[in-house]
Amino acid sequence: MPDHIATTLQQKLNERLKFYDDLGLGPFYRQRHSFGTQTGSTEESNLQKQKAAAKISPVQAVTSRVPNAVASSAPAKSVVLPVIAGSRLFEAANKIAGETLLKIREDLGECTRCKLHKGRNKIVFGDGSVKAKLVFVGEGPGADEDKQGLPFVGRAGKLLTQMIEAMGLQRSDVYICNVVKCRPPDNRQPEKDEVTACSPFLFRQLDVLQPKVIVCLGGTAAQTLLQTNRGISHFRGEWLDFRGYKMMATYHPAYLLRNPAAKGEVWKDLQKVMGELGLEIKKNKAK
Ligand code: URA
Repeated sequence: MPDHIATTLQQKLNERLKFYDDLGLGPFYRQRHSFGTQTGSTEESNLQKQKAAAKISPVQAVTSRVPNAVASSAPAKSVVLPVIAGSRLFEAANKIAGETLLKIREDLGECTRCKLHKGRNKIVFGDGSVKAKLVFVGEGPGADEDKQGLPFVGRAGKLLTQMIEAMGLQRSDVYICNVVKCRPPDNRQPEKDEVTACSPFLFRQLDVLQPKVIVCLGGTAAQTLLQTNRGISHFRGEWLDFRGYKMMATYHPAYLLRNPAAKGEVWKDLQKVMGELGLEIKKNKAK
């Protein structure tokens, strides 16, 4: 490694780090000091100078743009870079060329950002078509998914496959991923810190995929994308918005395995999705 980073390269690195900050990924890039960001009082006075020079919004405005969970649990030492007042999160993101699922997977690496890594066998990143118009977001891998490194391959996954096929699609037509990429012990719900650590990768995946519709399977996925604690019953079956993407929350297939009577409700939700995607709606698909 050269001791010295060329100015243009340094600028590029700083831009990239700012992009990660915009996405709430600051904690993963704490070593930014080697790229020229300073800490302590010098950093603070530099921030003041930059704000004055570039009419930059206060740091509070920056933290209000990142998901609440990310903002509230950011480590005290992490550096929050200023964002130009008025620029929206995804306008900034759009400026970063060349984001791909592969890059996101590489950034995720052999992740140890939360405690779920301790019990994991395989990271379950996501699976399906990069051209998918429809993305399903689940909660987190179970035992089968953890073994195979693929989402929704257990019992709930088989039901999800049936649901997809009932819509007239194949699994390979859609993209399937989860809020957390490592299996929570005993299939418990992911905890707030785990969601905070992992969800920025999901948001990046969605931004690469740019689906026409996102279907959230269950409360955890819907609450994470909507940044709400409200129960899924409050908004299930309604068209929602996630950063400009149409989003529908419906019951998780695992819930349907326990409550088959709810399949009809889910089928109604999926029919709305089919309508949005221009798929032919056939009657009486719920089994
Ligand atoms: N449940 C989920 O939420 N995701 C999976 O990948 C499997 C089961």
